[in-house]
Amino acid sequence: MDGSAPVFLAQESWAGRIYSSGWGHAAGGAYDVTAPADGSLVGSVGNGNTADVARAAAAAAAAQPQWEATAPAERARILNATADILEANGEELIPWIIRESGSIYPKAAIEIEHSAGFLRAAAAAAMEETRRVVTSLDGRDEEVIRVAHGVVGVISPFNFPLILSVRAIAAALATGNAVVHKPDPRTPISGGIIIARIFEEAGLPRDLLHIIPGGAEAGTALCQDPNIAMVSFTGSPGVGAKVGELCGRNLKKVQLELGGKNALIIQDDADLALAAANAAWGTWLHQGQICMATGLILAPAAMADALAAELATKAGRLPVGNPATEQCALGPLISDGQVALVKAIVDDAVAKGAKLLAGGAPTGRMFPATVLSGVKPGMRAFEEEIFGPVAVIVAYDNDDHAIELANMSEFGLAAGIIAKDTTRARKLGMRLRVGHLHINDQTVMASPNAPFGGRGKSGNGSRISGPAIWEEFTQWVWITSRPDAVMYPF
Ligand code: NAD
Repeated sequence: MDGSAPVFLAQESWAGRIYSSGWGHAAGGAYDVTAPADGSLVGSVGNGNTADVARAAAAAAAAQPQWEATAPAERARILNATADILEANGEELIPWIIRESGSIYPKAAIEIEHSAGFLRAAAAAAMEETRRVVTSLDGRDEEVIRVAHGVVGVISPFNFPLILSVRAIAAALATGNAVVHKPDPRTPISGGIIIARIFEEAGLPRDLLHIIPGGAEAGTALCQDPNIAMVSFTGSPGVGAKVGELCGRNLKKVQLELGGKNALIIQDDADLALAAANAAWGTWLHQGQICMATGLILAPAAMADALAAELATKAGRLPVGNPATEQCALGPLISDGQVALVKAIVDDAVAKGAKLLAGGAPTGRMFPATVLSGVKPGMRAFEEEIFGPVAVIVAYDNDDHAIELANMSEFGLAAGIIAKDTTRARKLGMRLRVGHLHINDQTVMASPNAPFGGRGKSGNGSRISGPAIWEEFTQWVWITSRPDAVMYPF
């Protein structure tokens, strides 16, 4: 004993492995995870394939009925314990999130804090009433009760790997389901190994949670496996459509949380400095790699140039670098492909007449805070989800024009309105086709108590968190009872 504290994420237990009926080797082998900032090795994890998913789903299906029969207070106790364990080990875990996903420290700390919040909210949900009496038309005793689907497959993306995995896993377990989870292959430690470890420490019974890093093969297997009843997917609209199609073909419930092109409307009575600060945070946090990132900044024509200038000044003050080794405000983009995509979108806007006021030129994976003004419909920067640090400023003529521009998007996740007159702002906001509306705030916001999700191409009308925990992760059973059976005419 050297007296040093035990290491929570000690690699001996998980390196090269998946978490499925304990830590073991995957039929699909193992692979190395590298840091997006410098390509250095972060760790090695098991690489799940179809056979691994099949084995996990069968084990989960066998374990699930006993979990559903477990007292809600016990399910809540375990979920609350995972939140405590996560927070207690936060300082050890944050550097893993920083390296693996290219996050700055505050974003990684938010992942720990919010994930603990989602776990506690799920624990509280586990204690909610699940029965309702139904008015009978012919003198029976009638009730409806909520029951778990069985095994839920969870598929999550790279950008907020811990939160976006935890929010679905916690909801599924709270409501009595078992889970087979596939994190993004680029972030399996933050989006998978950490979660396995907290549930392992909290004493979740064996086989209720399987963490299987892997790529499209494992994801496809989740959508096809007969032991999986529901898939909760968070990711891009392209992959979401494939997941929805496969789940439809296999008659599985599917929840799709997809992308966004979120408008921040600055009203003509807004304070310029406040508007710029909100636009900057909503656009550049985590390099814009957030589904709720501010994707369009709609400013009154008379204010647009001043706002653009203010944002360009801010952009120049935000250092971009490797958050594991330097003080910086922006880290790397997740991949070379993403850098090329963002650059192509910026170049397209400039070629079509937009003004590049800051940034625009990446160095390797480092893409500086970028400002485009004079953006118009017909430019890719106006139409596409960029998933990069680009402030897209669009001038509008009047309130109707602002709504028309915002609602042109096929997406409908979040919107923000910055204004002094909040009554007018709310009235305007109710004309937006979105799932989240924030008056006097930017677009990046989530709460464990609020149903999260969007309209149009942002999903399939499903929601996650808050009241959506029971709505999405369980289904009704109708039970009728008479004191004595009656004679029927046949
Ligand atoms: P992605 O769709 O490429 O990947 C998401 C997940 O799907 C990963 O785990 C990936 O391995 C898996 N996958 C890939 N191909 C698959 C297949 N054929 N079958 C099953 N699974 C498959 O998404 P991304 O590029 O990593 O993430 C960015 C996207 O996610 C953006 O569009 C963003 O807006 C969206 N997103 C949405 C939310 C939300 O809550 N609405 C949150 C974060 C990110």
